[in-house]
Amino acid sequence: MDELSLTARVDKAALTNLSTGFRWASAVSLFFLLMMTFSFRIEDTGIIDSYFDQFFLLAIICSLVFIFGANLLNIPFFYARWKIASIAYASTFSTCWAAIIALISIGGDYYDAADILSDIMLMIVLLGFFSYRPVLYAGILPILFVSTVLSFVSAKNAFILPTEKLIAACLVVESGRRILYRWFYNNIEKEHENNRLMRKLSDMASRDQLTDIHNRRFFEYELDKQFQRTKRTQSELGVVMIDIDHFKNYNDRLGHVEGDKCIRNVANIIQRSLKRSTDSVSRYGGEEFVVLLPNTDLAGTLQVVKRIKTNLANKAIVHPDSNTSEWVTVSQGIAQWRQHIGPESLIKEADYYLYKAKQLGRNQYYYSAA
Ligand code: GH3
Ligand code: MG
Ligand code: MG
Repeated sequence: MDELSLTARVDKAALTNLSTGFRWASAVSLFFLLMMTFSFRIEDTGIIDSYFDQFFLLAIICSLVFIFGANLLNIPFFYARWKIASIAYASTFSTCWAAIIALISIGGDYYDAADILSDIMLMIVLLGFFSYRPVLYAGILPILFVSTVLSFVSAKNAFILPTEKLIAACLVVESGRRILYRWFYNNIEKEHENNRLMRKLSDMASRDQLTDIHNRRFFEYELDKQFQRTKRTQSELGVVMIDIDHFKNYNDRLGHVEGDKCIRNVANIIQRSLKRSTDSVSRYGGEEFVVLLPNTDLAGTLQVVKRIKTNLANKAIVHPDSNTSEWVTVSQGIAQWRQHIGPESLIKEADYYLYKAKQLGRNQYYYSAA
């Protein structure tokens, strides 16, 4: 499961959101340009004819920019620098529209249409680019600048109305951005929290409460996984079954609380004896553990087994009632994966060799050299 921080997750979602926003804003823009070209062509007033060629040329250039922008974040180079690339595209997108708005109002004398168009474009930029503020403002400013200049010009130097319009536009954009962003952020935060809970839950479900090492459920899952992998790659897999010697006596003499403490200590020692991140130890049952060693041959498994024995001896946990030693000891049964053996047989074999180790006097390991 991925473990992104909340900030990284918000960034990733902003990128995805912008990528969709760019595609949408570009597609809508292309559609608008097509409609405008069509309606300017079929209307044939003299004013329009005189600037249609300029409009047509500008529309072609803008269309190329929009087609490029729709795919901008699919290009690895821009994807890797998405923040700066998005800011650059948003300002180019907006500059294209600012030029079109200026042309149809000045050249075409279509102030009303230009006014409506600039308002629509502000909404499109807001909806498409809200997830990253610098991109939104890069997209807002050129259009807002042109529409403000035009409202001053068309209001014949009146000052109050265009100023009010500018303030209103800024307010709508910023408050709209906040609402959209809060909704966006809350969603990501919720998803992040859910992922965290899922991870915690799955961790809890695979951990043993007493020892905090993996539990039997994890072991069954891991055994199957490692078994399939070993078979597929024809590599090695070592399995070690471990059982604490004379543990019933330990419990009977010192009580269950001390018994539990001892199981925890042994689990900890086994865990610390495993050096590779792919190695695992799980509590198999009461005072029994099972170790899985992927990509490990018999020589490697024996190294781990000896390390467990040495580390346990060094810890020197006193056993008040053992026929074997003054200290707590374990017996270990070793089995190595080979062709045509199933997971159950492999475990049975390790268990059988554990029994042999017990029979031979405990505090030792047993394996078949074959
Ligand atoms: P052997 O050397 O043959 O392994 O003898 P043993 O006494 O260790 O084996 P046996 O299976 O007879 O006893 C295991 C004991 O482990 C039985 C039980 O009292 C104890 N035990 C099992 N689970 C727990 C546990 O979670 N906590 C504690 N404190 N004791 C446990
Ligand atoms: Mg036992
Ligand atoms: Mg035992």
